[in-house]
Amino acid sequence: MFNVNADNQQSTGNNVNNLSAIQEDETLHQGHSQFHVHKIVEQFCRNTHLLKLIEGCVQKFVAHYQDTKRPEDLLAPLQLRLDFVVGDLAKRAPQLLKLVIREPIQFAEAVKYAAFGLVRQQLRLLGHKPVDIGQLHAQWRLVGLQFHPNLLFDPGQQSFPLGLSFIQGILSAYTPPETLVLQTIWFCGSGCLRNALQTSSTDAPLCSNCSRPMSEYQKLRVLESYRLLAVLSISSVQSPRTSGCIHRAILARARDHTYDLDLKLGADYLLSGYFTASSAAFNFEICHLRRV
Ligand SMILES: [Zn+2]
Repeated sequence: MFNVNADNQQSTGNNVNNLSAIQEDETLHQGHSQFHVHKIVEQFCRNTHLLKLIEGCVQKFVAHYQDTKRPEDLLAPLQLRLDFVVGDLAKRAPQLLKLVIREPIQFAEAVKYAAFGLVRQQLRLLGHKPVDIGQLHAQWRLVGLQFHPNLLFDPGQQSFPLGLSFIQGILSAYTPPETLVLQTIWFCGSGCLRNALQTSSTDAPLCSNCSRPMSEYQKLRVLESYRLLAVLSISSVQSPRTSGCIHRAILARARDHTYDLDLKLGADYLLSGYFTASSAAFNFEICHLRRV
């Protein structure tokens, strides 16, 4: 993940000034705390169907633990599939719509922390112990965003947008499903009765009591699958012979929850998402995928 500095905000901000549903809101400008943004997301969840969804997930989690009483089930995952509908955002929290378009990574963080706050409140109400934030997997989508030409990414311009963008293009290749490890649960085999949670690695952690490497509950590993898509941007298809320019497909990652249609090579798709940097790659992370 990378931070977005003030200069970059200005350059992407120009693109969204024309979106009619979005109004200026000082609360999201620099100088206001992340905490304040979390509160706005939390309030939005309370005012929509999202709160019921979160409560239902926590109730299932607690019921499962009361059923089994196994200590490792205290570290079970809470998977929240949260659809943020653009119409609801425009009506109830236009400042959030602006945030998700300008800074989707910051929005994703805010969703995670706000959901975690609501999960903790619900656990308290049910008289259950608090959970680790690593157990919470907030799979959010932005649904119903209308196509807007200002947000269309043009690879010919040689500059990656930092906000939410659209890519329209032809699916030229995709990988078989690949596996993403969301979390793993571990126990100490030396009789310490300790459990541990790992979120981004499958390496054995060391026991906090005896410092020996722990063993994994293989059956409790939480996985998700994704595919990498190669999408040839529509602009390169329209002008295949620009001199001094070699067109390459854009690599995009589609996690399972971001689409529910069949992928067809050669078909025209509209992707919404954002570019993310990791130590290994600079990829387009898909928020939503649909046919054109
Ligand atoms: Zn131990």
